[in-house]
Amino acid sequence: MTTPPPEADLLLLLAVVLPPRALDLLGPVVDERFVATAYGEIGPLALRRSPGGRGVWVQPYSGLPSRTDPRSTLLAARALGVQRVLNWDTAIALNPLLSRGQPVIVADYIDFVRHQPHTFFESEGITGIHQSPPVCPQMSEALALALPMAAGGVYVGVDGPRRETAAEARMFRQWGGDLLGYNLVPEIALAGEVELCYAGVTTVTDGSADRLPFPARGEMRAGLELVLEALPRFVELLSAPATCVCAERLNAPRKGGLLANDWWKREQT
Ligand SMILES: [Zn+2]
Repeated sequence: MTTPPPEADLLLLLAVVLPPRALDLLGPVVDERFVATAYGEIGPLALRRSPGGRGVWVQPYSGLPSRTDPRSTLLAARALGVQRVLNWDTAIALNPLLSRGQPVIVADYIDFVRHQPHTFFESEGITGIHQSPPVCPQMSEALALALPMAAGGVYVGVDGPRRETAAEARMFRQWGGDLLGYNLVPEIALAGEVELCYAGVTTVTDGSADRLPFPARGEMRAGLELVLEALPRFVELLSAPATCVCAERLNAPRKGGLLANDWWKREQT
């Protein structure tokens, strides 16, 4: 196995269905890998690279209960030399202002997943209570620049394959959730544990169960194209090395058994 080029530091977890060849705008596939981890094998991961451009690893992703242990995805990313993971997910709109096809950048999340491994506790050096930014600030800023029309929203992660009930949808909305989805959690928390940057962008597919179903009038195709066409700019905006706080917290001094995590204080100054 050869060492991946160091400039391929982004992994795109693709939980949307795209037309064939849609990802060619990131360049042709120049490499394919399977990566074995302690939690199972991941692959094939495809490396795409446009001539003179940066490399992007791409992995189709599903939040179905049958998916490989989510910990394996994050460890595979690390094994490939990836520092940043972008999850492009479809989501159900809890917020009545969101409509079908609309791109939404994940600003924060609520973890309501109960049936997936959610921590590396006592492996990968994870032993204490810790806190990390909900999403990578540098990646989210690049998403906002590449997708200026996108709103920001709070993502509620739930287990599939059952859809939410109307009562659950009302509860999640009262909690402050804007979106509901199956693919971003617990991966986003696991990434925080192993010091990877993680960000999420979603395309709204449907309204929540307490609302009338959205009519389908081609909004999905247009919405997916918006995100797709923004990806090359997003990749280019991240050509500078990571200067965010995602990878710093585990080096922070401990206080009373807890990590003295002050990333949020530093961001205020
Ligand atoms: Zn980061």
